[in-house]
Amino acid sequence: MDFIYSGKTDKLKKMSHLNVVGEVKYLCFPRDKSEISEAYNYAIQKGLKPFPLGGGSNTLIGDVETYLIISDLFLNKKWDEKNNYVTVTPNWNINSLLITAAKKGLYGLEFLAGIPAHLGGLAFMNAGAYGQEISDYFEYIEFFNGKDFLIMKDFNELEYRKSNIIGFITELCLRFNQINKDQIKNQILNNIQNFIVKRKQTQPLEYPNLGCFFKNPQVIQPNGEIKTISTGMLIEQANLKGYTIGGAMVSHKHGNFLINRGDAKFGDFVELIKIVQDTIQEKFNIDLELEVKILNG
Ligand SMILES: Cc1cc2nc3c(=O)[nH]c(=O)nc-3n(C[C@H](O)[C@H](O)[C@H](O)COP(=O)(O)OP(=O)(O)OC[C@H]3O[C@@H](n4cnc5c(N)ncnc54)[C@H](O)[C@@H]3O)c2cc1C
Repeated sequence: MDFIYSGKTDKLKKMSHLNVVGEVKYLCFPRDKSEISEAYNYAIQKGLKPFPLGGGSNTLIGDVETYLIISDLFLNKKWDEKNNYVTVTPNWNINSLLITAAKKGLYGLEFLAGIPAHLGGLAFMNAGAYGQEISDYFEYIEFFNGKDFLIMKDFNELEYRKSNIIGFITELCLRFNQINKDQIKNQILNNIQNFIVKRKQTQPLEYPNLGCFFKNPQVIQPNGEIKTISTGMLIEQANLKGYTIGGAMVSHKHGNFLINRGDAKFGDFVELIKIVQDTIQEKFNIDLELEVKILNG
């Protein structure tokens, strides 16, 4: 396996859903578990920090020379099915996975339809939408922690957009619901389409983006109750929609989406993020935490 990235920035740029990538020095594409382990050994030898990369739909990449990016792109893909349990590799795009499952009468995860992510990334982020989270459908996750392949089975304590996994997710077993009638299979496929249409109506998918840039904050109300607030709404109320730095802009369609209008640089996004965070802190006394991962340095 070739570990040195030799100036093919365009390829990585294509993988970036924001169409923004700085100079990256170390990148590799393992094909199986032994090469993942090899990649971690290489990182240790070189004093690099390993960074697993899935679909890249939540990662803003700047100039990177102290990390070894370990992409899941060329992992040998696996789909193993037993009744309603499906074991897969992390490099399944969620939309292909949902359609493959639906055709077999397996359903449940349609709320994730339309997200351009890989399953490993979705699991690491404990992704969710419309009040549901992916972790509700995990039987187990296997991951490599740099030394051993471990199995995680308890998902009760997972936090919002956080999995606590430190390592590379190598395999996931999903627990679907199952139905065998053809008519219902079409209904599942229609459901997938409906979720995709709903996203197109509310999200600026016509521009490169990374989904929601910030987590929705939780605030304690005067009566002691904890309430989750929509960051998109806060950004709208702060009149930040349309705010632009270079090629980076706060979307008019959805306040929590920062988009690339065409020629944005990594630095434009860093500056825009700071302006949004400072403004929301000043206006509402709320600290916005990034949902997007920034890989830089
Ligand atoms: C249009 C759009 C809509 C979106 N909608 C939603 C939504 O509704 N809900 C939601 O939760 N998110 C949403 N997102 C954000 C994003 O898709 C999720 O965070 C997703 O989980 C990221 O998956 P990925 O494979 O692209 O991860 P990447 O961006 O590649 O990585 C994200 C994080 O996961 C880690 N990671 C990736 N693969 C592995 C692995 N195999 N092992 C260990 N760690 C790994 C990375 O190191 C990084 O820290 C959206 C994004 C876009 C662009």
